Amino acid sequence: LQRFPKHKISYKKKKLHNDSFRAVNNSNCIRIENGAISIPKVGKIPIILHRKLASKIKTVTIQYHHGKWGCSITQEVECKTAKQVLKTITGFDINSKQTVVGSDGFVVDNPKFLKQSKTKLNQLQRQLARRTKGSNRWQKTKQRINKLHGKISRQRLDFAHKISRQITNENDILVFEDLNVKGMQKFNGSMVADNVMGLITQLSKYKTELEGKLYHEIGRFEKSTGICAECGQHHVLTLNDRYFTCTACETNQNRDLSAAKSIAKTGELDLIAAGIVARVTPTSQQKSAIKTK
Ligand SMILES: [Zn+2]
Repeated sequence: LQRFPKHKISYKKKKLHNDSFRAVNNSNCIRIENGAISIPKVGKIPIILHRKLASKIKTVTIQYHHGKWGCSITQEVECKTAKQVLKTITGFDINSKQTVVGSDGFVVDNPKFLKQSKTKLNQLQRQLARRTKGSNRWQKTKQRINKLHGKISRQRLDFAHKISRQITNENDILVFEDLNVKGMQKFNGSMVADNVMGLITQLSKYKTELEGKLYHEIGRFEKSTGICAECGQHHVLTLNDRYFTCTACETNQNRDLSAAKSIAKTGELDLIAAGIVARVTPTSQQKSAIKTK
């Protein structure tokens, strides 16, 4: 097995981002005292802490991003020990309208504030195109666009954090679809760039790990839409079919809810097959106690 030297990779990256640097906390040279962070060779800089420090600082990365200086601090945090009894398993379907639907009836819509900022962004981008490249007025618009990009990414992150926190608190096992591939197939153009739902899965993953809970992604080619939640009958649906009636058992099904339920079911079977979960009662999802080995 051949290994490529690591420093080469970081060297390449450095070329692209020359507005950031990283410092390692050797012999406690990085400290935060009296509202300021001291960094070797830089000195003391006033800092706004967004949360309490949990343990010793490991590394600090200083970065200039969208007109603001940011500082991300890494620390070592211990995960809670894995829960012995996991009580709830919930599948989540993310549909083409970017709505998250949980198999327990949880629904979150595509956040509207992102759309609002997007409209504003398009407006500014048109303005930029009208102005003479490099002129003062062009620079001003450019800066406003930069700032707005920053605002959008902060809004997106905030939203994703809130939702992932909520679903992690409410459930023991979270099952998602592999969004990397699904996203390509389903969401068009700007939607992919605006993939706040992908962010939710990422954040849920580490949050569940910290809580000693389980996060699972089902295979990319697993079919989930158009499966009856009652009997498992497959149906072919167009993008506009929000509801359908099962051809086998004649129950009325909500497209998103049944998809989420089938994702939960597939996830359950995956976890049993992998030997991570021992016992499952498929019909009464919410009440059955599922034990981990
Ligand atoms: Zn059915």
